[in-house]
Amino acid sequence: MRTKEIGKNLFLIELETGGFKNLICSYVIKAAKTILVESGPTSSVPNLISGLNDLNIRFEDVEYVALTHVHLDHGGGAGTLLKFLPNAKVLVHPRGMPHLINPERLWLSAQSVLGDVSEIFGKPEPVPKERIIPVTEGSFDLDDGARLTVIETPGHASHNLSFLESLNGGAFPGDAAGTYFPEFDLVMPTTPPPFYLDAELASLDKLISLKPTFLYYSHFGKASNGVQRLKDYKAQLQLWAKIAEEGVRKNQSFEEIRDRIIAEDTVMSQLADYLKTHRIYSKTALGNSVQGFIDYAKQIHAYKGS
Ligand SMILES: [Zn+2]
Repeated sequence: MRTKEIGKNLFLIELETGGFKNLICSYVIKAAKTILVESGPTSSVPNLISGLNDLNIRFEDVEYVALTHVHLDHGGGAGTLLKFLPNAKVLVHPRGMPHLINPERLWLSAQSVLGDVSEIFGKPEPVPKERIIPVTEGSFDLDDGARLTVIETPGHASHNLSFLESLNGGAFPGDAAGTYFPEFDLVMPTTPPPFYLDAELASLDKLISLKPTFLYYSHFGKASNGVQRLKDYKAQLQLWAKIAEEGVRKNQSFEEIRDRIIAEDTVMSQLADYLKTHRIYSKTALGNSVQGFIDYAKQIHAYKGS
């Protein structure tokens, strides 16, 4: 089964992008005004559509497609998806909006950062400008007493949004709270360059203050103890920053810094073998996330002039 009921009026759709399970999901809040969170990438839009069919959702009833950000794995499929949903508007951060209207630059930069992983996600199709609602804060009434609140949470990307749903009290953090591995019940940093640590920590404080019951990770699935997980993630980012800053000061190589992170972060020690053999995570998690911290540390180092 591609879909799973995970709360009141709330469903997860496994996108199985590129045949990978537990990699990317979309969420559906089924209310008088139905809302999707994340289109996922272009290549798995057919799976998303089949999930909507499984849930008996009429395409004309979908009012909004809320994107946490426009990276290919979250919002890349929006243009393709909208062709199926005649009344849906896309909610996105204003900084992401130009990339939806003209995805060419985003596609080129994804190809250079992700290499062949970008081909697994597929090339984004443009979203018509009149079907986009740029948002940073505020809330949307979905009727039946349901509301979706928008929270600006930059850090992973300068244009990352989170959404809070009122029916179960949970939050959709996009990539602001890391990547959740349901098989291990562990979270690891999702921090590719350019990564903004200070903004990310402030975003986590903002999310913590809203006391979300659950976190609905786009990678991957629902996790309980929302507040504790956010606090743990904050501490994990601070540990990585410390290791990266020391490494840069001592002129350590990427591999030395990465291996120190794996050795000193108990979460990473548990996940390392799994990540190393995973076709996508070996590149994104162990490569780009570490590089995001190294670039950040180099900037700090240059700024301090030491
Ligand atoms: Zn992502």
